[in-house]
Amino acid sequence: MSEAGLAERLASVRAGIADAAAAASRSPDDVTTIVVTKFHPASLIADLVGLGVHDVGENRHQEAQAKAAELAALPLTWHFVGQLQSKKARQVRAYADVIHSIDRSSLVSALASEEQAVDCFVQLNLTDDPGRGGVGPAGLSALVDEVLTAPGLRLLGLMAVAPLDEEPRRAFARVRELSESIRSQAPDAVALSMGMSQDYRDAILEGATHLRIGTAITGNRPKPH
Ligand SMILES: *Cc1c(COP(=O)(O)O)cnc(C)c1O
Repeated sequence: MSEAGLAERLASVRAGIADAAAAASRSPDDVTTIVVTKFHPASLIADLVGLGVHDVGENRHQEAQAKAAELAALPLTWHFVGQLQSKKARQVRAYADVIHSIDRSSLVSALASEEQAVDCFVQLNLTDDPGRGGVGPAGLSALVDEVLTAPGLRLLGLMAVAPLDEEPRRAFARVRELSESIRSQAPDAVALSMGMSQDYRDAILEGATHLRIGTAITGNRPKPH
């Protein structure tokens, strides 16, 4: 992958974000772009840092752990965005600055700690398929309460992936409404982690504060190994 191509794609996405923010009468500075670098080598992340990227996202523990160790000297914020096994929770906590995928009680218990607090999101499942990860809307309020009372977790807000069979803008509006529904319970959890390569404009229009963008910036992912 040529670095020139990477710079061009990054510039193009940044322009798209600025354009969507303007359309939403929002400041692009209120939107954090996380570049999702899964399956790509650590060298790509180093190239991204050279282009001014501060936030990267990974979805597989072993891969993320190895890259975070290799790139420990770089000024990066590491976001864990994938499904997380409870038995791996403490290891992820050791390198991740932000965990986007809290979706069940057992994971809250596994991540709870008297150590330094870790920023986190509760992941919503907007589909009827439990295999997609995330808590259903009916279980949201109870899970939010558990996160709020667990030591060592600082709840930033909600995370979601738009379903394949729903218009993204509608799906993101649902996330915004669910976020408003927990406002009295969790007044500080106002962040919305939503929007990927294909739908980040819609996400910004519905109030996304954290975009998770992979291929539009990195180019196609190498095959997983
Ligand atoms: C891979 C991934 C992304 C980025 O997807 P693209 O379509 O490549 O932008 C975002 N969020 C999660 C949870 C992912 O696993």
